[in-house]
Amino acid sequence: MGKQSVLVAGGAGYIGSHTVRLLSAEGYEVIVLDNLVYGHPGAIIDDEVELVVGAVGDRDLLVRLFKEYRFVGVIHFAAFAYVGESVTDPLKYYRNNTAEPLTLLEVMSEFGCNHFVFSSTCATYGEPEKLPLTEDHPQNPVSPYGKSKLMMEWILQDCDTAWALKSAALRYFNASGCSTDGKIGEDHNPETHLIPLVLQAIKGEVPELTVFGTDYPTPDGTCIRDYIHVEDLAIAHLSALRYLIEGGESIQCNLGTGVGISVKEIIDTAEEVTGQKVPLTYGERRPGDPAQLVAAPQMAKDLLGWEAKHKDVRSMIETAWKWMSAEHGGHFPK
Ligand code: UDP
Repeated sequence: MGKQSVLVAGGAGYIGSHTVRLLSAEGYEVIVLDNLVYGHPGAIIDDEVELVVGAVGDRDLLVRLFKEYRFVGVIHFAAFAYVGESVTDPLKYYRNNTAEPLTLLEVMSEFGCNHFVFSSTCATYGEPEKLPLTEDHPQNPVSPYGKSKLMMEWILQDCDTAWALKSAALRYFNASGCSTDGKIGEDHNPETHLIPLVLQAIKGEVPELTVFGTDYPTPDGTCIRDYIHVEDLAIAHLSALRYLIEGGESIQCNLGTGVGISVKEIIDTAEEVTGQKVPLTYGERRPGDPAQLVAAPQMAKDLLGWEAKHKDVRSMIETAWKWMSAEHGGHFPK
């Protein structure tokens, strides 16, 4: 039997590239579609993976790809993910994250491809009413980013009703860490995420880390998040794809560890891992940041047999540090 082909939109990005590597290692034929606005060609390190540079809204290109390959499923990572920018430029987010993928879904329906794994987010919940967040928690996203993702969840449910599209909307908590062999990792420009910024501050790439708020109602006053290792996310995507191919119903489920870690604990752990001090300042709260976001991870275990292997945030920081200390210092060659 030949290899099963999978289309990975946004496969040159952070979570996408780790998933592409795993899919290829597991014997899938992987075609990456990425417009390279934020993705890096250097993040595709497997020669067998084909990188097609283009947009998920390019109908002609999609038709050509769907004619050439009989995709068993699509994994869709391609999205803008800067929450702050989504507030100042909402239309950019609604166009890219919600409108453009409609073309991809249309072409899938025309070619009878009905398995779709989608990058959703814990940002679809908004301010938590109770913790940990279970999948039936009300979804009241605060930012256009969160709304753009929630709309996609609704669209996917409607496509299931209309033409039996089976989808897995995976609501990630805080994606973090890098590949354990240090070969690929997180390279955002601009970088806004806590762990890479802490490590960049240690390396002197940024002058200091600003802690956003120290007066939250948490034990040490800083925000608590659920950090989930990028390789665990990659495994979850593979599991979700297999689940759908084997006939699973559409699902929406959290991907987290269920463990809450504060900003201060991240800083302390980074200092332990690197043996260096983080240059710090303390600033105001960042608008829209809830005090705590922690996943109830049980549903992914029940439905996908998936559970985070990296439960200790130390391994997220260790792998991120390994990548940032490697040849190109945490950046893909241009
Ligand atoms: N954070 C911080 N300083 C920074 C960046 C982030 O104190 O320079 C905090 C932020 O307020 C949040 C946590 O670190 O509580 C994780 O933020 P990140 O942007 O990494 O992910 P988010 O939770 O927003 O998806």
